[in-house]
Amino acid sequence: MNKKPDSAGLDNAGAGTRAVWGGEQVRHPYNATQAPIVLSAAYGYDDIDVWYDVAMGKAPGFIYSRMSNPTVETLEAKIGELEKAESAVAFSSGMAAISSVLYTFLAQGDRMVSTKDSYGGTNKIFEEFLPRTGVEVTLCETFDHEAIEREIARGCQVVYLETPTNPTLKILDIQRLVAAAKRVGALVVADNTFATPLNQNPLALGVDVVIHSATKFLSGHGDVLGGLVCGSEALMAKVRHYREINGATLDPLSAYMIIRGMKTLVLRMRQQQHSARALAEFLCTEPLVASVNYPGLADHPNHAVACAQMGGFGAIVSFVLVGGMDSVKLLLPRLRFAHCAGNLGAVETIYGPARTTSHVENTLEERQALGISEGLVRVSVGIEDTDDLLDDLKQAFAFVRGLRDEKSQQPAFSEGVN
Ligand SMILES: *Cc1c(COP(=O)(O)O)cnc(C)c1O
Repeated sequence: MNKKPDSAGLDNAGAGTRAVWGGEQVRHPYNATQAPIVLSAAYGYDDIDVWYDVAMGKAPGFIYSRMSNPTVETLEAKIGELEKAESAVAFSSGMAAISSVLYTFLAQGDRMVSTKDSYGGTNKIFEEFLPRTGVEVTLCETFDHEAIEREIARGCQVVYLETPTNPTLKILDIQRLVAAAKRVGALVVADNTFATPLNQNPLALGVDVVIHSATKFLSGHGDVLGGLVCGSEALMAKVRHYREINGATLDPLSAYMIIRGMKTLVLRMRQQQHSARALAEFLCTEPLVASVNYPGLADHPNHAVACAQMGGFGAIVSFVLVGGMDSVKLLLPRLRFAHCAGNLGAVETIYGPARTTSHVENTLEERQALGISEGLVRVSVGIEDTDDLLDDLKQAFAFVRGLRDEKSQQPAFSEGVN
């Protein structure tokens, strides 16, 4: 694809402009204004020498779509613009991206340091799969930066950070932990799914590799799976090589859907973050809520760090319900403008307890060890009108409080303690 002759770079453009034009300042075939979905598995050549040069990377072009594909490359260029990365590699899901990055950079005898809080699937790789290949994994208390620094100082090849964490919304001080990692020559990987590139650019804070589950805010409509990895050309060449071999490539149709979703990322996030703050503030006043997690709240334990490293606090709020799972079962089905589902980052508001969402892969004992209470509910705030979302939550709480008042008249009623 040729660059438009008059196309200026996006170096000075804002995030909204980058999201729309990133990777798309080109003349597509047929002068199409939208990226074509190229479903071809392979690309044909009559000249064997040209074919060979393309295969060897000496000439531009495509050979086979497990290795590279025009639609997927457009998406990779777009996320590269948003994360201000030299290069990017797309995967078939966020987990494909995470596992591929870990298996690209870790080998038998290596050591990786991370935290107890992370997406449940990521935690499973840490606890179940990496140790099998002879990689030592040390998971620290997420709020204890001294402990994380101490473990990093003992020597490691990879430091893996997720911030804010899913679903506990804890914040890690990226620059502080990058400094600790650089002292021992470790590579720093960060999962930036919750923040999105609009609120946080970890590469600018010294992180080496940034990962997104594009299934979430980037695509934004809950209808496609994808994962994206960003970093220097040298590091991404290694990740791309691993993808070529393990085959966890993104399909072109999904790539197109993520491209389309990303164009409205700025508009969606603006509304979603606005409502997330309103919901978080309301939840703080609700008697049936034991605690609220949102990095934008002044009493969040790492609010100052969040203010320093994030441009906004995101659209995920989580809270612990008094009465545990009993209350969860009463509250969630009462909501009118919400899916109860395992996804997040979509235009619709989505509620779900950790037990059936982020930590569905973990056992009750594992969740307890990770400090994930059974009454913990995650809210992914959608683009609906803020007042409608607030009213909906208020009526659902009023219903649950009414039921509890009734039941408390009966001596047999027991308070759930999970
Ligand atoms: C959803 C999620 C993942 C996994 O992404 P998939 O696209 O579902 O494979 C990884 N990290 C975080 C923070 C997530 O929320």
